[in-house]
Amino acid sequence: MAERPFVYRFTKDLRLDDHAGLAAAASRGNVLPLLVIDRSLETRLERSPRRAAFYCSAVRALAAELEERGSRLVVRRGVPETILPRYARDAGASGVAWASAYDLDGIEQDQRVQSSLEEAGFAAVVVHDAPAVAPEESAAERSAPGLGYRAFAPYFNAWRQLPIASYEHPLLLRFARCELESEALPTAQEFGAVDGAPAGAAVARACFERFLREDAARYAVAAVVPSGDRTSQLSAHLSFGTIAARSVVRAVRERFENPFALSEERLSLRLFLRAIAQRDFFLQLSWFHPETHDRALQEKMRAFAWRRDHPGLDAWRRGSTGYPLVDAGVRQLHATGWMHPHVRAVTASWLCFDLGVDWRLGREEWDRRLIEDDPALATGNWQWIAGVGADMAQYPRIYNPERQRRRYDPTGEYVRRWIPELAQVPLDTWYGKPAESPQLGLGLYSRDSYPKPAIDHGVAARAFLRRYREFTSP
Ligand SMILES: Cc1cc2nc3c(=O)[nH]c(=O)nc-3n(C[C@H](O)[C@H](O)[C@H](O)COP(=O)(O)OP(=O)(O)OC[C@H]3O[C@@H](n4cnc5c(N)ncnc54)[C@H](O)[C@@H]3O)c2cc1C
Repeated sequence: MAERPFVYRFTKDLRLDDHAGLAAAASRGNVLPLLVIDRSLETRLERSPRRAAFYCSAVRALAAELEERGSRLVVRRGVPETILPRYARDAGASGVAWASAYDLDGIEQDQRVQSSLEEAGFAAVVVHDAPAVAPEESAAERSAPGLGYRAFAPYFNAWRQLPIASYEHPLLLRFARCELESEALPTAQEFGAVDGAPAGAAVARACFERFLREDAARYAVAAVVPSGDRTSQLSAHLSFGTIAARSVVRAVRERFENPFALSEERLSLRLFLRAIAQRDFFLQLSWFHPETHDRALQEKMRAFAWRRDHPGLDAWRRGSTGYPLVDAGVRQLHATGWMHPHVRAVTASWLCFDLGVDWRLGREEWDRRLIEDDPALATGNWQWIAGVGADMAQYPRIYNPERQRRRYDPTGEYVRRWIPELAQVPLDTWYGKPAESPQLGLGLYSRDSYPKPAIDHGVAARAFLRRYREFTSP
């Protein structure tokens, strides 16, 4: 009897290369590629138009690659628990494989889909594909398996020494072509968006190669200096799986191990590997503690009274706080769907500490703007910044936004790029008070085009720390 095919359901793993999920499906039969667009995916795409454009372009690229391989991406819209058993039956498949989710909603859906397939008599295979190192692999290094790591430093120590699996055998992937009817590929327009720059595996690969060639050796500087956008800009690609984190880590480790690499370059490569390990760290944190989506990881911080509103909140959302680095970051996010990593930290710190506003409100706001679709990474980072998640130091790290600007954007290149009103203002002379500069209003902009600080940073930070100490001291 002929071997039955195996369905592979693509989620946020829109590529064929170095793919743990496809390898798992191919080891069970010829692969029938399927895409299911369900309500929760639609919601996330409707929320951020740039995300929708990126996703739809990546799906188109994937569908084209599958056609080249003699296969076909079949699309279905609806509830995965219902669609998958029906599709497996109609296609004569023996089961369905897919890559696991790491956020609460996704993990719960994976469990429902697995049950519905197994109840219908099909195999359900869920594999780790998004992280370079699967949560259980790193947790196996620990004495308390099943809980994962709550602090990054010991996690990174274990992670650095683990081998990275490879699934780079594209010729071994055997695809079949399903002739069942398919719905249309998703379009940006159906989510209220317009097409953006092309995405997909080839674009992701080119982005990574450019970074390796031009910027990786100076990543230590690029990670904190926002002008020029010299970090890898891989986040959206990793988020939708158009490149495997495994491929990235293997390539960077190889270069790191080159005995001729200069020590400056090795420092940069190590920091870059640390950044990818941070991604794995937050994925495993959410995998082992999915309930932290809305609840602080640190038990004692769960009852801390964050503000749900503040007169400065709207200014933060618009990028008009009067603190140039904060405002430039927000405006970069509005204009591009991405913000420089260090500026994210400063901008998030301003919301949580200067305004005392709930980290969940910040996360929600950015979720409407970012291309990345990573609830687990957003939650882990927002909790980290707010001092309620992993690695909590004795006191939260409160960034002084003007000091950060002077240190990391001393010439104002980044700030002027995103806040054209300040183009004529000599920022060093008007340290902390660009709104009072007589040069403001020269050129195209009016005298009151840039606001005075919405709040005094020093006063606000001291008040927050007092409240924090009172709350945490026994
Ligand atoms: C408040 C806050 C919210 C954030 N929200 C998100 C989010 O929703 N989605 C997201 O992908 N990243 C998030 N980050 C992490 C980080 O800022 C972005 O991944 C980074 O800015 C992306 O730019 P890049 O690809 O050039 O990163 P690079 O500096 O080139 O790093 C390479 C890759 O490593 C990973 N990485 C780097 N830093 C982190 C980190 N702190 N945590 C997890 N992964 C990391 C990313 O996948 C990134 O693409 C957040 C950080 C903060 C402080």
